[in-house]
Amino acid sequence: MIRNRFMSAIIPADLHQAEPLDHADGQILENAGTLWIVATPIGNLGDVSDRARDILSRVPIIAAEDTRTSQKLVPARKAPVRWFALHDHNEASAVERLIKHLEQGQDIALVSDAGTPLISDPGFRLVSAAHDHGIRVSPVPGPSAAIAALSAAGLATDRFSFEGFLPAKRSARQQRLQALADRTETHIFYVPARDLIKVLEDLQHVFGGQRLAAVAREISKQFETIRRGPVDGLLDWVQADSDQLRGECVVLTAGADNSNSMNPIQPRALAEQLAAELPPARAARILTRLSGMPRKQAFELIEQLRQS
Ligand code: SAM
Repeated sequence: MIRNRFMSAIIPADLHQAEPLDHADGQILENAGTLWIVATPIGNLGDVSDRARDILSRVPIIAAEDTRTSQKLVPARKAPVRWFALHDHNEASAVERLIKHLEQGQDIALVSDAGTPLISDPGFRLVSAAHDHGIRVSPVPGPSAAIAALSAAGLATDRFSFEGFLPAKRSARQQRLQALADRTETHIFYVPARDLIKVLEDLQHVFGGQRLAAVAREISKQFETIRRGPVDGLLDWVQADSDQLRGECVVLTAGADNSNSMNPIQPRALAEQLAAELPPARAARILTRLSGMPRKQAFELIEQLRQS
């Protein structure tokens, strides 16, 4: 395996336990730099990893969506650093220059304003070009709003699709949703919170108001809010509380199968079966898990069914 001569200089042994893999075609350019794809916090600066900090404090070049935003991550850098702006509007031209630096042996860290680069953020052209030129590309894993939201949403996680931002125009948005309406996996959408009402209205229109969904807003920040419920209920809640329209948000929807939907008839039928077969606490726990019904309500329903 051809080792990158910069690899050991950048990563102290204790932070870099695994031997890095060569690319599938095995041809990594000798003496070239590494392109590090560095995930950064999505709100809480405490979420930056030691490894991300270490790499950002050592690489000679950092390519960032907004260099001023990312400079906050490396306030006390001793070694000089060159900052390159890399955003949607200049990616094509910036890539050529960045690849030259990599070929000359300089490591580059790519960061976006928040979260994992390339996930609804710039960087795809650079990463693709790096592969074309035999440059080692190595991710430094960390936060991403999509995965953080999914992990806390209480929706099925075994299969999910990341849909990114929906189109701005209502007709195009509804058309996009229509294509997803019958699919059975969980969907993840990035939604500026100011658009929550119109996106929930479209979901109500296309998926139906009983579809189970979740809103994860301002994750890891002071006003973090995670809420799951049928689309109808989420829409009522957001319409009644304009604070929910502030900041950044991920909307998730359950897949189009019965175990994930919030049809009001099905939870009751399920509750009847559970109340007949299981001790009340266990029955309520399972009812909550399968129907999305709030825990207190599930306990009350099970109790009521047991007494009737
Ligand atoms: N690359 C980023 C990532 O890995 O998550 C996403 C960048 S995308 C331009 C920004 C969108 O991510 C926001 O509009 C919002 O939908 C979502 N997002 C980012 N930070 C968030 C947070 N703290 N809470 C909820 N959603 C967030």
